[in-house]
Amino acid sequence: MQSVSINNLTFDEYLSQQEIATIVAQVAERINADYAGREPLFICVLNGAFMYASDLFKLITLPAEITFVRLKSYEGTATTGKVNMLIPLQTSVKDRDVIIIEDIVDTGTTLKHLKAYLMDRNPKCVKICTLLDKPSRRVADIKADYIGFEIDNLFVVGYGLDYDQKYRNLPYVSYLEG
Ligand code: 5GP
Repeated sequence: MQSVSINNLTFDEYLSQQEIATIVAQVAERINADYAGREPLFICVLNGAFMYASDLFKLITLPAEITFVRLKSYEGTATTGKVNMLIPLQTSVKDRDVIIIEDIVDTGTTLKHLKAYLMDRNPKCVKICTLLDKPSRRVADIKADYIGFEIDNLFVVGYGLDYDQKYRNLPYVSYLEG
């Protein structure tokens, strides 16, 4: 198991690069099968999902599109319960098969807001694809359709996920020792 210490914080490996690659391939295979004959629009939720979206999208064999929104609901390791759209959606979702790509579903607040925002714009359907799911923390009534890996109540960083905007560049998912 790898572990890295940065600024007096120690991060232990939780999901290795190989484990992530396997998860990404399995999710891509399911989406490719489920959406055969369709042209889904992926919406990557920045910043955290950028790495997952990039790896996943490369394995999508459909005539798919990808667009981005940036939402912010977190300061440090504590949720604020508020969701701001810092980069708004710039693609029409009307009559589209939308697949949201998220890094992690925690309380579900972010996705509840985003899903409601999208549903107001008349998509054909909206599904949620998340790398990680932390069901023990759920507050909002939100269920992901494609879950890479279910995790315990840990604060994880790496592979796109941050701790105060840092450590996104770790190529694996790790958790904060504490
Ligand atoms: P929610 O709205 O579901 O509570 O939180 C969703 C967002 O909070 C995620 O997209 C992610 O940015 C952030 N988040 C939730 N749990 C974690 C975590 O364990 N680590 C990191 N780095 N971010 C998290």
